[in-house]
Amino acid sequence: MSRFRMYPTPAQEAVLFEHCAHARYVWNLAVEQHSHWRTGRKSAPSFAEQCRQLTEARRENEWLRAGNQTVQVQALKDFAQAKARKFDSGFGEPTWRKKYRHEGFRVIGDERIPEFNADGTPRLNPKTGNQVMNRSVVVQKLNRRWAQAKVPGCGWVRFRLTRTELPQAKSFRVTFRNGQWHIAFAIIPEPIDAPGTGEVIGTDRGVTITAALSDGRKLNCPQLTTRERAQIRKHQRRAARAPKGSGLKAAEYAKVAQLKACEANRRKDWCEKTSTLPARSYDLVRFEKLNIKNMTRSAKGTVEEPGKWVKQKAGLNRSILAQGWGLLRQRTEHKAPGRVEDVPAPYTSLRCSACGWIEKKSRKSQADFGCVSCGFICNADENAATNVAAGQGGIPRPRRSAGAGGVTAATGRSSAREPQPTWVGIPLF
Ligand SMILES: [Zn+2]
Repeated sequence: MSRFRMYPTPAQEAVLFEHCAHARYVWNLAVEQHSHWRTGRKSAPSFAEQCRQLTEARRENEWLRAGNQTVQVQALKDFAQAKARKFDSGFGEPTWRKKYRHEGFRVIGDERIPEFNADGTPRLNPKTGNQVMNRSVVVQKLNRRWAQAKVPGCGWVRFRLTRTELPQAKSFRVTFRNGQWHIAFAIIPEPIDAPGTGEVIGTDRGVTITAALSDGRKLNCPQLTTRERAQIRKHQRRAARAPKGSGLKAAEYAKVAQLKACEANRRKDWCEKTSTLPARSYDLVRFEKLNIKNMTRSAKGTVEEPGKWVKQKAGLNRSILAQGWGLLRQRTEHKAPGRVEDVPAPYTSLRCSACGWIEKKSRKSQADFGCVSCGFICNADENAATNVAAGQGGIPRPRRSAGAGGVTAATGRSSAREPQPTWVGIPLF
């Protein structure tokens, strides 16, 4: 995927919004058709059947007929794809699209270009013997900074070119989010080759330091500045005091949304840039296995049994989600497929990376680690990252005999004992 910011003229913008409306309408029709299905009923219409129905609907409905057919058919195709991939896409069953929230459509390129085999000979259709022609998006470079793409119904629409070469794709998607138009070309980038040195890097993800690498580097995800956070609070306060349903309220909330979108953009940009580094310079990248969804669950509880520290937990959840842990892992995996591993997370922060002894008391503070067994002193995050790199999360041992994880026997005696080889039982490397 290569995505660029698009700058349509006001006239083009109106047409683009119309396209979004058509795509959304057709998508929602498809969702509705499929939601009627129950066991025992006739199966919901397939993509081909839906296309036939769309042609009929276009004949009868003037508003639909006025729209672009490619946009509408592609919305059906999107739906068919979403439906087919509901188990592995991570998004689940395709659901309703909402105005202002899910604005976008997909377009297949108009230009036809001949396709060639790997050895340079023209690819022929085995049935007819004709040259296979492929779709291609029509793009033009204007100068070093600007390019334009042909969007049906709008002619040439300019976009800001932020790469040296023009994108070549069969289709593209146009989206409108947070007041900005983007054009994303359907390109799957080549994965980054392993350097072949056999080196392994471990990443410890935390809230104070977003990602501590085992080579000592500490990477921090950008956050909003204090000033920007104050602005958010200001606009939220003004919105709260504005009369219900007023334009002022909407405007204030829009400003809040804009600032929050800015934060999300920064985070995404950071993840994109940061994930390249380990993928490019290490053969194997290890992450501790975190279940972020469970970690950020609310502490609210139920009405009968309300939870404790609800606000505090909500704040922690917010700061966990602001780190972009999941995205960093996901993008690294995309760039280095098959070279990313998950390591069990328990005790990675309590285990001594020098001798393997696991003890709660070794962790002196948030930043300091000092092994109570061998006296090894290190930064706590770096120590954890080294453990992750070694693939050592530690093995949870029986509670009575071990001091691991801060769980000690009633006397606390075992926690202060010397390491005993038979009990440690953890290979050093
Ligand atoms: Zn030690």
